[in-house]
This record gives sequence, C-alpha cells and structure tokens, in this order.
Amino acid sequence: MSVVQPLLDLQEIDGRIRELQKEIRDIPQRKAQELERLNGAREALARAQAEHKNAQLRVNEADLEVKARRDKIQAIKQNQVMLKTNKEFQIFNLEIAKIEGEIDSYEARQLAAMDDVIPVKARLAEADAKLKEEQSVVDGYLAELDARLASVREALAAAEAERAEAAKKVEARFMFHYDRLRTKRWPVVVSLQPDCVCNGCHLQQTPSVGQMVRRNQGLVTCADCSRILYAM
Ligand SMILES: [Zn+2]
Repeated sequence: MSVVQPLLDLQEIDGRIRELQKEIRDIPQRKAQELERLNGAREALARAQAEHKNAQLRVNEADLEVKARRDKIQAIKQNQVMLKTNKEFQIFNLEIAKIEGEIDSYEARQLAAMDDVIPVKARLAEADAKLKEEQSVVDGYLAELDARLASVREALAAAEAERAEAAKKVEARFMFHYDRLRTKRWPVVVSLQPDCVCNGCHLQQTPSVGQMVRRNQGLVTCADCSRILYAM
C-alpha cells in the first residue's frame, strides 16, 4: 500500500466535503433566482391593478358629476318655492332642464366607463391567477431546495465525522503539508505520470524525484506546485 493512501482516502472525503459546502453556498442564490422568475407576473399584476384603478376612477368621477348636478337641481327647486312670478319660475325650469341634459350625458359616460371596467377586471383576475399559479410552482421549487439543503447539511455532518476518523490514519508530517496546501490548491495529492510529470501542474520532475515517489517511503512534493506526489 502506498504511504500516501491514507491521505488519498482523506482527500476523497475532503472532495465530497468541498462539493457539499459549495452546494450549501449556492442554494440561497438558486432560491433568489427562483423568486426572480415571479417578477414578470408581479409586474403584469401591478399594471392590471393600475389599469383597474384608473377605469374605476373614471366611473367615480362621472358619478360625482351626476350627484353634484342632482344637488344643484334640488337647490334650484327649493328656491323656486319662493319665487313670485311665473316668468322667474320658467327661467328656473329652463336651468333645471339644462342641468338634466348634462346629467344624461354624464350618466351615459358613467355607463360607458362601467363597461370599460369589465374587461379590465377580467385582465386583473387573470393576472392575479397567473401570479398565484407561478407562485405555487416557485414555492414547490423553494421547498425542494430547502429539503435539499437539509439533506446536504446532514451529508456534510456525516462526511465531517468520516473525515475526523480518516485524519487519524494520516501521519502528522503529511497532514501538516496537506492542510496547509488544500485551501490554495486542489487536489493536493496527485499522481506522478509514468513520464515523471506532475499531474497537478504538469511540471517535468527530475529522475530522482520520480525514484523517490516510486520508492514510496515518504513525503515527496512537486518542485513547482508543492503538491504531494504518489506513484500510479
Ligand atoms: Zn506540480
């Protein structure tokens, strides 16, 4: 067995740990991407809401115009009671007729505005339903990602426990070098190719380095990248 075999075993576990840690780091970003998918539907709903508000506003405006004119007619009729001549009475009647004409026109406008509200309301309901539908799809993905996160965390805890055991089997001098290098270069332990080339940085090693690696008795490192070398 190679002297670096315990280190290779450790490196295999560390490789899995790195993958799991990367996945844990990536999940929040994946969740954010899922949520971004709702932006289009949210914007469409906001547009439909604004459109509905405007359409409803036009109905209300016409309604206020009608009410104001009805109040005016009411006031005129109250004043008519106090009139002395028939002529004055007729003038007031003409004024009332004119205002009633305006009321007719505002009521027609109000009806048209109410008709306009119908399709706008339908579009609003559609946009609302679409957002809810997309939200439920996204919620499903988010739940999957949360479940994935929980299982990745569990796997990570298990791998870390496994690592603690595997680390006990690695000689201290190997461990020191490996731990120092593993945050800078990955993988740390690489094979030396038959033509004496480091599999990490591809530097040609001297024949004596090749010999030491094949002798398989101690820690041999690449002259350039410092990776630990082992014979294939
Ligand atoms: Zn190298």
